[in-house]
Amino acid sequence: MSGSAKPLSNRSIAVAPGDGVGPEITEAVLRVLEAAQVPLDIETVQMGESAYLAGESSGIPQYAWDALRRHRVLLKGPMTTPQGKGYKSVNVTLRKSLGLFANVRQCKAYSPFVASHHPGMNLVIVRENEEDLYAGIEHQQTDEVVQCLKLVTRPGSESVIRYAFEYARAYGRKRVTCMTKDNIMKMTDGLFHRIFDEVAPEYPDIEASHEIIDIGAARVAAQPERYDVIVTLNLYGDILSDIAAQVAGSVGLAGSTNVGRDAAMFEAVHGSAPDIAGKGVANPSGLLVAATQMLVHLGLSEDATRIKNAWLRTLEDGIHTADIHREGLSVVQADTRAFTDAIIERLGQQPERLQPVAYAGGGIRLPEWRPAVEQPRELVGVDVFLDWKEHDRDPQVLGHALEDLAEEAFDLRVITNRGVRVYPDGIPETLRTDHWRCRFLALGPIKFGDVLQLLGRISASGFEVIKTEQLYQGPDGERRYSLAQGE
Ligand code: NAD
Repeated sequence: MSGSAKPLSNRSIAVAPGDGVGPEITEAVLRVLEAAQVPLDIETVQMGESAYLAGESSGIPQYAWDALRRHRVLLKGPMTTPQGKGYKSVNVTLRKSLGLFANVRQCKAYSPFVASHHPGMNLVIVRENEEDLYAGIEHQQTDEVVQCLKLVTRPGSESVIRYAFEYARAYGRKRVTCMTKDNIMKMTDGLFHRIFDEVAPEYPDIEASHEIIDIGAARVAAQPERYDVIVTLNLYGDILSDIAAQVAGSVGLAGSTNVGRDAAMFEAVHGSAPDIAGKGVANPSGLLVAATQMLVHLGLSEDATRIKNAWLRTLEDGIHTADIHREGLSVVQADTRAFTDAIIERLGQQPERLQPVAYAGGGIRLPEWRPAVEQPRELVGVDVFLDWKEHDRDPQVLGHALEDLAEEAFDLRVITNRGVRVYPDGIPETLRTDHWRCRFLALGPIKFGDVLQLLGRISASGFEVIKTEQLYQGPDGERRYSLAQGE
């Protein structure tokens, strides 16, 4: 969200009840907040289906945007995205427009009150929400090859990593595990891991470790009890959140937080449940848990603690809505109203078998990030990507032609196809697509103009250049690009 409007107070929120069961569960949550006398200024706005049907393709009318700008905190009911072209998901629009850089999903078992194969599971995934392969920068480069750019930035990584540590502190958690694949993606995932290692010592009270995402994900599925807070990149976090939610068995009770530098949004993980809408039987737990996360965010940790403990006690007393009602485990099958009344009656009580919560006051400090230290860099070459299908795709023919074009300024160091070296030598088994990366390294100091001249010679010889990447080195000669395989 851009704009300079200031929030009314740090306790003011916008509430969007949403569609389907949204209004019922929102009403239930607001009743609990009111009964707990939480000091909030609340403005209700309509987003979702009603806005779509009124012709607003984003599902968010202008006055709701204005309210978001004023309050900066949104408690959001589930929304129905109508079928058909042209409608944009409210969630995607909010995430992109508000710069919600972190998504937080708690995956917890409430065993034995809600069935789970992993009764001890209680982990939180903090996922980077804007970058990585989700930056949406894709190109079809040749007939046979498409690419998606994986962008990992220092500000994005540092923000989400700091948020994970701040979150751990506010929620009394002990460990943060960073998951990346930096054994393969040494620059992108490597940056995320390096920033994690830089930030972790500032939180000596929190244990920090790193795991490779593949084995980490396998362990989350097999032994989720071993994890506390996990912080990871966008794509891994997306997949891991779903694995963990499935394993926990309590997705219907989960809340989700999306945090930005300027704004935050809290919602249930489930959808608008049109099949039970209007029947008064929906479980308000997901949105209530999201509301407690919102209170911690706002620094109302005591209120959050009181409400969450009353809710845990209600579950424990066997008062369950139909979706979690099980013979033998449940005592009463309650509708939305009765379940909400039961929570309100238990305000001030603690659970006896489930672990009570105790959130630290002060809220979660929004992370700062430090701009990278500017360093001199030297242009040392260029990777030229070609679309080439001639001469039976023989790399020797391509290599010899390019050697001649390199002239005195450059050395054609290597040609790769899908990252595998095919020139000056390679093996015949390597699959040769129409997409060739040709690495030219400078033989002495060069300027960008030398690169342009090289490209001019290559193009004038009939080759189709589809993309270039300049190769730089840092002050100590450190390479700012990865070595090609076999280089
Ligand atoms: P859903 O989560 O709405 O429903 C899946 C099943 O879970 C249904 O049987 C439903 O009755 C049940 N359920 C969901 N919430 C419940 C609750 N609070 N209490 C009791 N039972 C509950 O998923 P869906 O059917 O795939 O999606 C329905 C609509 O919701 C779609 O339009 C989808 O786009 C939207 N949706 C919105 C969000 C969001 O706003 N964040 C998230 C997911 C889906």
